[in-house]
Amino acid sequence: MVTVLDLVANKPRPRHPEKAHRPDQEVLRKPDWIRVKAPVSKGYAETREIVKSHKLVTVCEEAGCPNIGECWEKKHATFMIMGEICTRACAFCNVATGIPTALDADEPNRVAQAVKTMGLSHVVITSVDRDDLEDGGAQHFADVILAIRAAAPTTTIEILTPDFLRKDGALEIVVAAKPDVFNHNLETVPSNYLTVRPGARYFHSIRLLQRVKELDPSIFTKSGIMVGLGEERHEVLQLMDDLRSADVDFMTIGQYLQPSKKHHPVKKFVTPEEFQSYAIVGKSKGFLLMASSPLTRSSHHAGEDFAQLRTARAEQLKKTAQ
Ligand code: SF4
Repeated sequence: MVTVLDLVANKPRPRHPEKAHRPDQEVLRKPDWIRVKAPVSKGYAETREIVKSHKLVTVCEEAGCPNIGECWEKKHATFMIMGEICTRACAFCNVATGIPTALDADEPNRVAQAVKTMGLSHVVITSVDRDDLEDGGAQHFADVILAIRAAAPTTTIEILTPDFLRKDGALEIVVAAKPDVFNHNLETVPSNYLTVRPGARYFHSIRLLQRVKELDPSIFTKSGIMVGLGEERHEVLQLMDDLRSADVDFMTIGQYLQPSKKHHPVKKFVTPEEFQSYAIVGKSKGFLLMASSPLTRSSHHAGEDFAQLRTARAEQLKKTAQ
């Protein structure tokens, strides 16, 4: 008897089929200030076990985040809902692109139970883009928020959403579920959009953030960018002004790191001093909070940042009442 192995059919599907034809990009050696510790702690292993046993997906793993050792040791993970396949193909992103699976109706409950088990005081929930769904996944976001509120009422909730482009009414559904922090990342300056974030529209993202504040001014708004993608300093400063015109409270800036040689190249490693200077300029432009450092990520230190946001808002309100 002969066993025929169909190696073509069994070939694993590439993670980024849309990037396969692209020429390889040189991967620059990381400077000393980017080095991170290997994830080996007991806390890291425990977080990993909770994530696996609840069959959850995290952006920490999917995006290959350099902070995973530090965050998971402290039991801080960012859950990624609605599957691990994204309908967009941004040039910087390590999340797989393709046709997503159907929504899992039990996922809100499993996320809520994991939050409760981990005893989180603050949780960050993000998702892949779901352009295939009529509401872009808005109702699923709302269901997750409500499930966490029921299971862990004292946990504050931060969401990091897609742009809900061409999904009328979607944003209103998410805002009505009352997250404590609404984050939507601009990712980069507008001149980079066609090459870095081709499926998105810069002014739509700005307007989305502005609309959150119009709908519910009690929700903190937040947005972030990566630098090192070829942007100019004056473009970052203009982007800060655009975010402030949309009344955004909190901005994050971190170094872009290239996930593979098929991804957008790192054009520059921005120095810690330049990051510090962005933080100072951002504060002077009126953000309640700025997080700007090479390893800053949207959800890095999100719990501590939330406490600072609350304090900063209280102080601002006190000043305006005087
Ligand atoms: S910074 Fe965010 S994405 Fe990275 S490991 Fe921490 S929680 Fe996860």
